[in-house]
Amino acid sequence: MPDTVREGGCGCGAVRYRVTGEPIFVNNCHCTQCQQQTGSTSVVNAFFEAERIEVLEGELSENTVTAGSGGPHIIVRCATCGTALWSHYPRMGRNGSGLRVGTLDDSGAFTPDAVIFSAEKMPWVALPEAIPAFEKTYDFREVLPPERVARLRELSKRAAA
Ligand SMILES: [Zn+2]
Ligand SMILES: [Zn+2]
Repeated sequence: MPDTVREGGCGCGAVRYRVTGEPIFVNNCHCTQCQQQTGSTSVVNAFFEAERIEVLEGELSENTVTAGSGGPHIIVRCATCGTALWSHYPRMGRNGSGLRVGTLDDSGAFTPDAVIFSAEKMPWVALPEAIPAFEKTYDFREVLPPERVARLRELSKRAAA
């Protein structure tokens, strides 16, 4: 079966991208940094091998902030309107991309594998019962199926190389 191809873009329409296949994992993160960076309750990130995301048109820009772990968190945006499209986090570096699911044309395409940093969520936010929630992070081996654990290991190996 060929990989599913999905498209998305920024708020002004200048950037369009294509993402191929299914994510390795999807997090709905409620940490205070994600709240600050989005101005919202949380972020939904779908993690892919970086080469699965292809820019079809438009110019990108980047900003770097400090991740919770202390390393560089690179936010990739539309250079025209500033919409954040995906991020490179310290653990995987530029080998991995955390795609902001809200920028997909079909933002309902991916359901989170986990809700994380629930301890920091805005107090009025109700968490979905069907999705495992963790006060901070989780052991991916307990949540993800083996083939996705293998993809993650491969990516970590490339990042370490
Ligand atoms: Zn734009
Ligand atoms: Zn977060």
